[in-house]
Amino acid sequence: MATSSTKGLQDRYELWARRALRQLPFECALPRIQAAPGLRDRRGPVHAGSFLRERRIAFDCTRDEFPRIFVHELFHFVWVRAGNPVRHSWERLLRRELDLQARGELGWSAEWRKQKLQQGDLDFRTRRWREYCCESFCDTAAWLYSKTANHQEFTLARRHRDARRRWFAATIENRRISI
Ligand SMILES: [Zn+2]
Repeated sequence: MATSSTKGLQDRYELWARRALRQLPFECALPRIQAAPGLRDRRGPVHAGSFLRERRIAFDCTRDEFPRIFVHELFHFVWVRAGNPVRHSWERLLRRELDLQARGELGWSAEWRKQKLQQGDLDFRTRRWREYCCESFCDTAAWLYSKTANHQEFTLARRHRDARRRWFAATIENRRISI
């Protein structure tokens, strides 16, 4: 059961989430928002975690970071419902980038996975490759839609950012996204 202070935090997160949702260039329902002070995953402390089947996102993050973290987590829901044609189209975009030796990413979650990729991951579409594709999709959405102009984790070169922006405009925007 939530304590009164956790409840206050939860109300704030939910308010921030509704604000961030209104900034998106498409319609989408809001998953359940939960305050989870001290949140961790198997690697250590984390800002948020998504529970896809329960349609719930748990947060432990600051006001400043919230919009970027929220959009990233929301796009995990978009990814699982997007269907193979959309996911494969995103994979092709990332393969083209890697062919062009693109360095950097739009968030640490995608960045560290990208650094670990080997040619075999691309050739055999391993779990490591598929996780990278998913995290890169979520980080790109967060960069595009969270109104975060600058962040130290935005390291991908301009021309590749532009290509990703065009892909999202063509594939995601101005529609009803069900999650
Ligand atoms: Zn993620």
